[in-house]
Amino acid sequence: MTTHRTLPFPEPLFIYTALLRGGAKVKQKKEEGMDIITHPDIRLGLKCKEVEDINIPVVAEVIGELQIKWAGHTTMAGLAANQIGYDLRIIILHGEIFVNPVIVKRQGEEKMSLEECLSVPGRKERVKRNNKIRIDAISVEGRVIKKRYFKGLDAFCFQHEVDHLDGILIIDK
Ligand SMILES: [Zn+2]
Repeated sequence: MTTHRTLPFPEPLFIYTALLRGGAKVKQKKEEGMDIITHPDIRLGLKCKEVEDINIPVVAEVIGELQIKWAGHTTMAGLAANQIGYDLRIIILHGEIFVNPVIVKRQGEEKMSLEECLSVPGRKERVKRNNKIRIDAISVEGRVIKKRYFKGLDAFCFQHEVDHLDGILIIDK
């Protein structure tokens, strides 16, 4: 028997609204958790879906929330859509949005990267990553990104976020 699991994604939370209105004090407080989904929530282990149409409203909603979260968190390098409750392949890295990010080539040496994750608070894990990757994606304006390279730390972060979209956490590696 085939069962189709209905994804238990909640309505997006609106803490960021308070965050924007409340200024530094609220911001500081919210940074602790930032309403980011944490392990062992089942949603972090599911594979996210490709965005088939960048113009559908939920895509803009996800992008907006990722940008707000990224802007509101001083130490965040990147974030994936499923960490904030959306089952779509969208990530933010250093403020830049990547829709349907794909690592098309893994190059360079494999290195051990010491990583933290907002979805796995309090843990630091050593993860093996390639130190050079080539990626494809769609930009926030709907432009096709091709033959883009990331090296070193940026490459590690990009792989970390794409892992999220595939349901993989640093503690699973
Ligand atoms: Zn993470």
